[in-house]
Amino acid sequence: MNCPNCGSQNVQLRHIGRKVGSSIGAAAGGLAAMEGASADAVIGSLMPVVGTITGGLIGFIIGVGSGATLGAITGESLDGTVFDEYCCPVGECTFNTQ
Ligand SMILES: [Zn+2]
Repeated sequence: MNCPNCGSQNVQLRHIGRKVGSSIGAAAGGLAAMEGASADAVIGSLMPVVGTITGGLIGFIIGVGSGATLGAITGESLDGTVFDEYCCPVGECTFNTQ
């Protein structure tokens, strides 16, 4: 495949949507999990200290992980539609194949 702008063969996938989506998803998931973590921590404090820490931690990890995954899936659907899917480092061009 050649870059339609400068003809370079050194074309790369950008995955901008996926990258941005997974970072936003991780951040959002982390924030949501921290709010949820206080609830988990309350439940967890039925078993004091250990329950509080593990409850909060597990909630946070799950939140970040699922947020990142959801964000990546959402972002990936934007690649090639909202965001140009390819770039070439030579001319710093971005483009889609259609
Ligand atoms: Zn180019």
